[in-house]
Amino acid sequence: MVRRVVLIGAGHAHMEALRQANRFEAAGLTLILIDPGAFWYSGAATGMLSGALDPSDATADPVALAGPVERLEARATRVDPGARRVTLDDGRSVAFDVLSLNTGSALADTGLVRSGAVPVKPVSNLAEVRARIEAAGGELRLAVAGGGATGVEVALSLTSLQRRLGADVTVTLFAPLPLLPGWPDRAADRAARALKQAGVRHVARRAETIRDGAVIDDAREAHSLDLIIAATGLTAQLPGGFDAGPEGLPVGADLAWLNDPDIFAAGDCAHMTHAPRPKLGVFGVRAAPVLIENLIAAGRGEGRRRRYEPQSRWLSLMDLGDGTALGRYGGLAHRSGAALALKRWIDARFVRRYQP
Ligand SMILES: Cc1cc2nc3c(=O)[nH]c(=O)nc-3n(C[C@H](O)[C@H](O)[C@H](O)COP(=O)(O)OP(=O)(O)OC[C@H]3O[C@@H](n4cnc5c(N)ncnc54)[C@H](O)[C@@H]3O)c2cc1C
Repeated sequence: MVRRVVLIGAGHAHMEALRQANRFEAAGLTLILIDPGAFWYSGAATGMLSGALDPSDATADPVALAGPVERLEARATRVDPGARRVTLDDGRSVAFDVLSLNTGSALADTGLVRSGAVPVKPVSNLAEVRARIEAAGGELRLAVAGGGATGVEVALSLTSLQRRLGADVTVTLFAPLPLLPGWPDRAADRAARALKQAGVRHVARRAETIRDGAVIDDAREAHSLDLIIAATGLTAQLPGGFDAGPEGLPVGADLAWLNDPDIFAAGDCAHMTHAPRPKLGVFGVRAAPVLIENLIAAGRGEGRRRRYEPQSRWLSLMDLGDGTALGRYGGLAHRSGAALALKRWIDARFVRRYQP
């Protein structure tokens, strides 16, 4: 019997597994992907929102990788680990010997999202927001909730888009202080300066809900706005059947679920119990080589496993929408045009790797 390795979600790590599908075939394994659509690369998301990049610069088609992979274009709704089966949203079900989850994260469920704010994930939402703003010639009163790197970057991208369209900048950022929690103070100062220079109205309060076309903040003040994007924090996204918290499926250093050595997870949906990290694409990317080797070993019934030790420092580059980027590495912060050029180069190289 040919053993079946089933991948759920075309996230960063699984895109690399698909690119290396020949290795699974050479090991005598059948590789199956369950995913509903295109891969969106979040590193290029705000460049795409601002209009600096085309949506095609931020997407790739997992199927176009054209390796020996069976593709099921559907969403996995439930996994039964005991019965070794995955149920899909179109009613089908799929058997597996080895399972890998790379299903990413979703915005934490809040009153703001439930009342109509656009969640920043999936990233495809930002392509729809850009189209809506372009259709209105930029003449919309825009807002973003969330003062982390994503919220600040999205707010600045919106100002860039409005300027591109020749419209006045009307962007409000709802973000209690401090901005960029967890980043060095120097980086937060530079981000605050960039917001001011770009003309963003900063309200140092939380946006709570939308009522009668107005955003209500936590001091009960109403702000008349046309569109608000919520960037208020990510939680792991998993199909049903797992009893996991918002941080994700608990895995060990070999990326296998602590309850089952033949079920793996990587990226935002995984909680690396040996080395917890923030929900950033870079960890899914770097986990890929270890994940692929361990999936092949598990598929072949071999006990050997490689360990993934995520780096303790990583480079973050925020596109400030004005031709510069804010770079952060550990306690260092730096803003320049060269930092943006580096970001564009890294992002383009990554996406090209997965385009035919
Ligand atoms: C605007 C924005 C900008 C960001 N910028 C950066 C950045 O510059 N650098 C960085 O490191 N991180 C960045 N992040 C964080 C980044 O988005 C995530 O860390 C990253 O996308 C996680 O990658 P992943 O591989 O875990 O999953 P994802 O890339 O999110 O992929 C998950 C895939 O699984 C599929 N899926 C989900 N559920 C199911 C299911 N039930 N069945 C089948 N398929 C399913 C989805 O359709 C999707 O294709 C940014 C986030 C946002 C929102």
